[in-house]
Amino acid sequence: MNIAVDPAHVRDNSAVAIIGAGPYGLAAAAHLRAANVPIRIFGDALSFWRGNMPAGMKLRSPWVATHIADPRGRHTLDDYYRQAKMEIPKLLPVENFIGYGMWFQHQVAPDLDTRAVIRVEALDDCFRLVLEDGDTFIAQRVVMATGLLGHEYRPAQFDGLPRALVSHSCEHTDAERYRGKRVAVIGRGQSACESAALLHEAGADVEIICRGNLVWNADPGQRSSLRKAVRGMLGNMLIPPSQVGPFPHNWVNEAPGIIQHFSQQTRDRWNELNLRATAILWLRPRLQHVPVDQGRTILAARKDGEGVSLTLDNATKRFDHVLLATGYRIDVDKMNLLAPNVRAKIVRHGGLPGLNGTFESSVRGLHFAGASAVASFGPLLRFIAGAGFAARRLTRAALREAPRSADRRPQAFAEPVGSITAKREYP
Ligand SMILES: Cc1cc2nc3c(=O)[nH]c(=O)nc-3n(C[C@H](O)[C@H](O)[C@H](O)COP(=O)(O)OP(=O)(O)OC[C@H]3O[C@@H](n4cnc5c(N)ncnc54)[C@H](O)[C@@H]3O)c2cc1C
Repeated sequence: MNIAVDPAHVRDNSAVAIIGAGPYGLAAAAHLRAANVPIRIFGDALSFWRGNMPAGMKLRSPWVATHIADPRGRHTLDDYYRQAKMEIPKLLPVENFIGYGMWFQHQVAPDLDTRAVIRVEALDDCFRLVLEDGDTFIAQRVVMATGLLGHEYRPAQFDGLPRALVSHSCEHTDAERYRGKRVAVIGRGQSACESAALLHEAGADVEIICRGNLVWNADPGQRSSLRKAVRGMLGNMLIPPSQVGPFPHNWVNEAPGIIQHFSQQTRDRWNELNLRATAILWLRPRLQHVPVDQGRTILAARKDGEGVSLTLDNATKRFDHVLLATGYRIDVDKMNLLAPNVRAKIVRHGGLPGLNGTFESSVRGLHFAGASAVASFGPLLRFIAGAGFAARRLTRAALREAPRSADRRPQAFAEPVGSITAKREYP
């Protein structure tokens, strides 16, 4: 397989390999390319959005916070809708976001290498990437933009139960398969509430079971009278673009560069408060006929004939299926593509890598973008809106640092331009 590289991008040996072609990987590619940094980007574009989110889902992030960042602002959602001659919807369907993401990829990374990276090894002063077909590639820097998949959180009560009976929300795109079935949705965040709404609308008999109470984001009913009065006077001026976290924290969340300077303890508390499970108010009417059993503790779950019995603190209930909308917990130890000796050197905080100001881990040249960076930069990094910040900082790192060793130029960029082959063993 031959992969052409644009001569304009071959400037020096500061080659950056980006692993992952979701919003973070693509934004990084756009920024690094614009700065003439030679890059390679690997992965199946938008695969998490295509294969692990429910069909019919609407994006929770507001329109202005859902553009994938490119440094010239030429590839916005508005540009995509304009060229596709589509009308801008009130809520963005996931299918249209996928269309936008694929279009964005064609604009900024038409040479995307869709192969998966199965191994990242550290050599003396660079990294060797092994691809799914055995090809290898050498890079001076690696950006891990691999997202949430593989980090699903499954409460221990469900250990040992088959996936056919208990699955995580990321394992489904199609609610129709549960038509006529009795389904428990565990969780109370946006994903739980939207999955329950979609299942209900597909004809399943759904119940939400959750530990705390459902909290509706931006619910006017929960505002104090002072806030209502101020809101009445200032209107939308109080609402920050990304709307991540409760007011007024949500304004601070717009500035990961400030959150980075909090003490780790403060940042942990901040993240907990700002990433609390909430659902967006527009979902509420769709759940009118869905029972919610809130404040419950699930004591045990066991196979019961063709279904599952849940022992709760107040009752036992039987379901045909249990859907865990219990979110994700990133853990470096689950990033199997990193060679064990690389993983071992990564300083972590609560399973997440500790990162410096350019998203670099304690392994020199190994960066993490997206949800892995929340412990270091705060809640925005969980959302598309944080991708521009990450991409700018990554670009700064790639430009600032002199090549590690002029004579150890990665072979990929030492070969004649346009004739780079997929076999890239470091000499
Ligand atoms: C149900 C749900 C709804 C959400 N809705 C929103 C929303 O409305 N707005 C919002 O801002 N955020 C939303 N999010 C969060 C969203 O996941 C992130 O904002 C966004 O996907 C982060 O982008 P990413 O590039 O970090 O990760 P991803 O989008 O997950 O992309 C990671 C990419 O890495 C690739 N990859 C992984 N491993 C490898 C490998 N070994 N080799 C090569 N490639 C690899 C994958 O193929 C994938 O394409 C939602 C999340 C969920 C679960």
